[in-house]
Amino acid sequence: MGFWNNVKRDYNAVFERDPAAKNSLEVILAYPGFHAIFFHRVNHFLWKIGIPVVPRLLSHAVRFFTGIEIHPGAKIGPGFFIDHGMGVVIGETAEVGEDCLLYQGVTLGGTGKEKGKRHPTMGNNVTVGTGSKILGPIRIGNNVVIGANSVILKSVPDNSVCVGVPGRVTKKKIIRMTTEEGLIEVMDYFPDPIVERLRGLESQVEALTKRIDAMERLRDKGGKMKIYNTLTGRKEEFIPLTPGDVKMYVCGVTVYDYCHIGHARSAIVFDVMNRYLRYKGNNVMFVKNFTDIDDKIINRSKQEGISWDAVARKYTEEYYRDMDALGVGRPDLEPKATDYIKEMIEIIKGLIDRGCAYELEGSVYFEVETFPEYGKLSKRDREEMIAGARVEVDERKKNPMDFALWKRSKEGEPSWDSPWGAGRPGWHIECSAMSIKHLGEEFDIHGGGADLIFPHHENEIAQSESFTGKPFAKYWIHNGFITIDKEKMSKSLGNFFTVKEILDKFDPEILRLFLLSTHYRSPIEFSDEQLRETEISLDRYYSTILRINASLEKDMTKEGPHNADKNFEAMVLQFRERFEEAMDDDFNTALALGHIFEFIRDLNRFLDSRPSGPKVKELLQKSKELLSEVGKVLNIFRRTPEEWYHSLIVKKKIGLSEKEILERIKERQDARKKKEWEVSDRIRKELDEKGIIIEDKEDRTGWRVRVG
Ligand SMILES: [Zn+2]
Repeated sequence: MGFWNNVKRDYNAVFERDPAAKNSLEVILAYPGFHAIFFHRVNHFLWKIGIPVVPRLLSHAVRFFTGIEIHPGAKIGPGFFIDHGMGVVIGETAEVGEDCLLYQGVTLGGTGKEKGKRHPTMGNNVTVGTGSKILGPIRIGNNVVIGANSVILKSVPDNSVCVGVPGRVTKKKIIRMTTEEGLIEVMDYFPDPIVERLRGLESQVEALTKRIDAMERLRDKGGKMKIYNTLTGRKEEFIPLTPGDVKMYVCGVTVYDYCHIGHARSAIVFDVMNRYLRYKGNNVMFVKNFTDIDDKIINRSKQEGISWDAVARKYTEEYYRDMDALGVGRPDLEPKATDYIKEMIEIIKGLIDRGCAYELEGSVYFEVETFPEYGKLSKRDREEMIAGARVEVDERKKNPMDFALWKRSKEGEPSWDSPWGAGRPGWHIECSAMSIKHLGEEFDIHGGGADLIFPHHENEIAQSESFTGKPFAKYWIHNGFITIDKEKMSKSLGNFFTVKEILDKFDPEILRLFLLSTHYRSPIEFSDEQLRETEISLDRYYSTILRINASLEKDMTKEGPHNADKNFEAMVLQFRERFEEAMDDDFNTALALGHIFEFIRDLNRFLDSRPSGPKVKELLQKSKELLSEVGKVLNIFRRTPEEWYHSLIVKKKIGLSEKEILERIKERQDARKKKEWEVSDRIRKELDEKGIIIEDKEDRTGWRVRVG
């Protein structure tokens, strides 16, 4: 009979589940859980066969002495075991499978609205921890384990483990509240820490994804650029150490004299690189130093009878005057060598500690033998380097190639205190100290004139890498020489021009454009004639702008004949791409300017065809914008045609103001009206002799300055 079998299984379950149960008599007499299930079996039987009242009364009585309430209707499988009885509640319609284990404080019940089924169904072998609440008409699968104090509100699939109190949002509702601001609606929900955390993580992931996208875009953008690296001897893809952040150091001037055009070339070349790197979307940190202590400065101070720092100040001012005129932007930082004596001494001390430098009676030398890679930038062999090393008059040096890091000062020379006595830094150490200080031990670009490759930059590498143990700059960029009559321009040969001299005769934009018309690594042959040719090119740009402006003032609403329209439109569309392509290829400003002047030529041909119509207006406007945009990168084309002509009048010493020129033209027109041809011709001739060309157009008379 099922009844007795069930009782037997319940009885055995006590011994199986409760390690404290040893004695049968004890279990039969003193286990409230056993009493509860035994009487439940009886009650359930009576309830099932339809006996009224008695099962309920009996279960009510059992509750008093066991503390366990089981409704007679509950269907409970065999082997049911209730440990400590107090507090366990099993609702009427609950179904509990075989071999279940419940601890005290468990509630199997709920508030489900389904009629006749308000309580959970539990599969076999379920374990339910202390204080767990299982609510609602739900089903708990087989072999489920539910941890203490868990609240289970949803069906649990087989073989699950449920733990903790996940205060899950089960339902949202809008509640209406009356406040001072009137009736408002608020979302009423239980705060859920897990959902909040997930939301936080979600937004973090989103931010990171955006950042990665941006970095990839920048890498792709920057990655398209190629730079010739003197260190590797080839053109390489430009990838900054941190994508999107470019750190660049360029060796500046020694301020002891006026700048010559070689200085101007280097300054303009790196100024354009800086501008183009920014145009490509990089953050650029551009550092360029001033060498304000040096043998040449000391000599100049003796010559001029002023202190060395007054010499440095004077020629720094002169430098700025020239560079401002040439449109060279100020770098982000312009450190002066003498502000970094402390940092230089630190590096020299470090080099001595590492055994790479030695002291010799108040001077310190870098020992080249300790740096096996010496020569890797200039690709010179030892003999060449020995021959090429600026011979420093000190026979006691271990090796003629060793170079001074610190020099003992002679009587009356400027000096700073150091661990080796009063002295001043050697030239090379300043650039290592200032670049490491402002850009870090490793950075992206180190630049300068090609004459600095050896020994200056070679020495910078040796001392910096020996000091930090890390590679110094990643890309080494060097600009080429200027030649005059095919000979290298240099101060020692005396065949040089100062910027000041050139700017007396020529507009500064002419010099800038001329220096950018050759690739930065190639030599430039310099002559006045070359500058005059550049003047013609620049004049062509400004007169084209004047033509565009005049066309734009015209009524363009009517369609007119405009042949070459399609070709010209294609040219406009491709222009920026062609410019960038040239600049991406190792800053090829020569090619970029080639494209620009080709564009200007086509623009003039297009204007010659007297185009008209709204589309034409749009194309002309676009062309003007494009030229201005690329002009911004090269820092040319920044003035109005009127400003350009004014500058020409001044530089060419024409001796007439624009107002006077217009007055003469008016006089000539009056004469023409009166048919006084002789007078009109004379005025034209006079102006022509002064370099002003008169152009009679259909509706008015224009003028321009003769160029070239
Ligand atoms: Zn330097």
